[in-house]
Amino acid sequence: MKLFSTNRKADPKFLPPLATFEKAVMQGLAEDGGLFMPTEIPTLPKDFFEKISILSLPEISFEVAKTLLQEDIPEKDLRKIIDESINFDAPLKQVVENIFSLELFHGPTLAFKDFGARFMARIMSYFINKSDKKITIIVATSGDTGSAVASGVYNVPGIRVFLLYPSGKVSKIQEQQLTTMGGNIHALEIDGTFDDCQRLVKTAFVDKELKTIFAENNDSLGSANSINIARLIPQSFYYFYAYAQLKNKDYAVFSIPSGNLGNLTAGLIAKKMGLPIKKFIAANNSNNSFTEYLHTGNFTAKASVTTISNAMDVGNPSNFVRILELYENNLEKIRQDISSADFSDEKTAAAIKEVYEKYHYTMDPHGAVAYLGLKTFSPCGIFFETAHPAKFLDVVEPIIGTKIQIPERLASCLTKTKVTTKLSKEFQDFKNFLAKNAK
Ligand SMILES: *Cc1c(COP(=O)(O)O)cnc(C)c1O
Repeated sequence: MKLFSTNRKADPKFLPPLATFEKAVMQGLAEDGGLFMPTEIPTLPKDFFEKISILSLPEISFEVAKTLLQEDIPEKDLRKIIDESINFDAPLKQVVENIFSLELFHGPTLAFKDFGARFMARIMSYFINKSDKKITIIVATSGDTGSAVASGVYNVPGIRVFLLYPSGKVSKIQEQQLTTMGGNIHALEIDGTFDDCQRLVKTAFVDKELKTIFAENNDSLGSANSINIARLIPQSFYYFYAYAQLKNKDYAVFSIPSGNLGNLTAGLIAKKMGLPIKKFIAANNSNNSFTEYLHTGNFTAKASVTTISNAMDVGNPSNFVRILELYENNLEKIRQDISSADFSDEKTAAAIKEVYEKYHYTMDPHGAVAYLGLKTFSPCGIFFETAHPAKFLDVVEPIIGTKIQIPERLASCLTKTKVTTKLSKEFQDFKNFLAKNAK
């Protein structure tokens, strides 16, 4: 795979050389601040689609990954990476006649981000171990991303993680998830806001002195940002697997609860690889920059507003530029493939209640937005359930009026002892901590 930067067109004089997959993964973002995109997206052979219905999720994942990465990672290593990262199911559940839920929350942290985080961690580990180096990932988290990344990296050789979270500003469950893993995962409790955490991380990346100190120790600072191409690729696997599980292939309409548009972009890539998807629905909450773009043709980044589907509270979705790239900026073509609508918290809550009462299926707030999107545009199809409802107990339980059973893998961290290092929001404090631990 060869990759270019989405910014290359912003300045025709600045045309960075194409990046290898290794470089794109280890660097995250291109030098010019753009996102990495593959120059070519190969299609899968016809016989793959003929036998797809009898393949398992790891088998499908391997075929898709091999098609994309055959020049970058030998088959034997790629198979190991898939077997270790895509090691939980993504079942398609019938909710009512022609409406299906693709449950993407069966991973260790109960959200679909496990797919991207686990795959990326093992890809990074593979490249690091080839060169006998180490990498220290620093991530700022307001909750979910941090635990998915931490869990993905847990016990993976050559990598460790420092998780920065705002003290007192994440839910109790989230804090337990972030602070009880141990091993190569270290939680840093910052006396500040999420924005302070992000500022500390960004400042550390551009600090020359830190860079030198880490290099002297054969270590480097890495990012696990959601824009990393290695997080995007595994998200295309389950589109194929959902299709494989569909008995009536005419129902290949996918409704995706969208924030940063990573999940949607992965689906568009699956389609380019030959998966016969009829339609995508990008379902937004009140953070509706993408819905507005499709309706008006104008994209306006906005400040984010808080909703009950908070993982989608994104005012300026970073993967938007990748979608423009895939469609060569052609709005009409984008509209042929994607429809979009936005839904308020009231509508989302009403949908959770209705589906629970009518069909005895419990949706989380993100899945509920996707369900509403599907109902708006299609009488049949698949909506993505991106998180387990137990992750949003405080929202969902009052709506359905019943207790939700907390899965064992979430419940087990609730009784463990929290371990954190407390730091102020001053950069010098964080820098001293990193410098001391660069070994
Ligand atoms: C991150 C997230 C989303 C949004 O996905 P994007 O790829 O950012 O569009 C939706 N639901 C849940 C539960 C998430 O964690």
